[in-house]
Amino acid sequence: MKRTAKSTGAARAGSEIGEGRRRHPNRRLDASKPDRGTAPAADPAAETQLAEASTQTEPAPGLYLVATPIGNLADITLRGLAVLRGADRIFCEDTRVTAKLLARYGIATPLAAYHDYNAEQVRPVILTALRRGERVALVADAGTPLVSDPGYKLVREAIAGNLPITAIPGPTAAVTAVILSGLPPDAFLFAGFLPPRQAARRRALARWAAVEATLVFYETTPRLAESLADMAEVLGNRAAAVARELTKLHEGVRRGRLADLAAHYRLAGPPRGEAVVVVGPPERREPDQAEIDERLRTTLSELGVREAAAKLASETGRSRGELYRRALALRGGKQ
Ligand code: SAM
Repeated sequence: MKRTAKSTGAARAGSEIGEGRRRHPNRRLDASKPDRGTAPAADPAAETQLAEASTQTEPAPGLYLVATPIGNLADITLRGLAVLRGADRIFCEDTRVTAKLLARYGIATPLAAYHDYNAEQVRPVILTALRRGERVALVADAGTPLVSDPGYKLVREAIAGNLPITAIPGPTAAVTAVILSGLPPDAFLFAGFLPPRQAARRRALARWAAVEATLVFYETTPRLAESLADMAEVLGNRAAAVARELTKLHEGVRRGRLADLAAHYRLAGPPRGEAVVVVGPPERREPDQAEIDERLRTTLSELGVREAAAKLASETGRSRGELYRRALALRGGKQ
């Protein structure tokens, strides 16, 4: 039986109001943190029981942002299923897509659409339901809601209205692609979709060109070859990877230089399915001695020895003392 606002006395999230009193939505749904007084699961069977128990616990009132699979329907968390099962209603992009997921897990929660074309009309309906103390789940067709998918304005307005919000984390194509790419994962920038038109796409790429991080782009497969070619031109011919059909039967990752990847897809034609492009950070090439000398000579025509050495040290990462001695030698005409 669903609880109503009356029976739950739904509290507000955020700031301090009600924070201490309301049942925290993460509490008891987290299988890894048993309630106080419950002995930690000591063996796999007990852990399974605990995990199953979490799928039977009702969520507290509020908005739940639930990540769903990006291909393989098994990639949904126990907590995600518990929330979808216990919610009063689920808002999704395409009810036919989410209905398949719900059918797979025998979940009968009512579904309604929330997408780019009806968001302005439906958002007030969701906010009213939340104010009444309903448990509302928001899902995307695939992956994490708000990540190149609807939900951002809803979250902002829920925050402004001091309504409870909980994220139920799970798959997202961006992170899945990064960890498979073989490119540096220590710092990455998710840039979402690039503009479809070339001039705007190149301008967008130019904005990211100096970022010292791995870049992650979502791209439709028909535009893959032209986007990769623009990336090669604007970002330089960096190491990159195209991750396709992640978690699906025909999952594949093609790794190489941007220009080679562009040439491959230009010749092979657009691949089927969905793709993420991961591009490595700018590659600092160590300048050789001849290049250093050349740059020092140019700089010495405008600056003194000390200043020229300092400038090149900051530009190349070489030692200032070493550059100073070299600059003195060049100025003295010894080289
Ligand atoms: N919310 C989703 C997420 O968390 O990843 C992203 C939705 S966005 C509308 C769809 C884009 O995500 C696709 O065009 C593709 O770039 C990427 N994508 C989603 N699923 C994918 C998959 N299984 N394999 C590769 N890329 C995928």
